[in-house]
Amino acid sequence: MSVIEKKLKDRSDSKCELCGNPHDLVVYNIPPDSKDTLNDSILACKTCVGQIENPETTDPNHWHCLSDSMWSEYLPVQIVSWRMLTRLKKNDLLEMMYLDEEALEWAKATGEGDDDEGKIVHKDSNGNILFDGDSVVLIKDLDVKGANFTAKRGAAVHNIKLVWDNAEQIEGRVEGQHIVILTQYVKKTK
Ligand SMILES: [Zn+2]
Repeated sequence: MSVIEKKLKDRSDSKCELCGNPHDLVVYNIPPDSKDTLNDSILACKTCVGQIENPETTDPNHWHCLSDSMWSEYLPVQIVSWRMLTRLKKNDLLEMMYLDEEALEWAKATGEGDDDEGKIVHKDSNGNILFDGDSVVLIKDLDVKGANFTAKRGAAVHNIKLVWDNAEQIEGRVEGQHIVILTQYVKKTK
């Protein structure tokens, strides 16, 4: 075991510093220019590292852990959490994070989030940008496939979730049903 790996295991109690998994742990040197030290590396499981390094394999369901890891007392863990929250567009959580100017510059160094223009931006029928946690109303009656009910025009949907890899879709609850809604049929109310 390398010295850095030993130190990271002490720091993390031998668990993935992102998701808490105690298995398949590796040292993740934070790009772009980690010196393989405690200050620019984290201990993470292969699942986390695999998804970090291959964005197309990102599974949003794996990353609920970020709402804990973002509060880590260790800056390297915060940096990686920030990058993944950015990739998954968790703006409600990102707004709560505090990184000083230097840390923010480091967090942005790999360009995570840079290419968002013209890529995945969720907009309502009026062109207003939607975020996780927003409230919207439906602007037309929508037949819900498979659920055999119609979500009525004017129905309010609170605390929406963006479908992170599809700019046309959001998720939310209407009359107790969890449904996917096309952004062109909603209007933001807050
Ligand atoms: Zn992990």
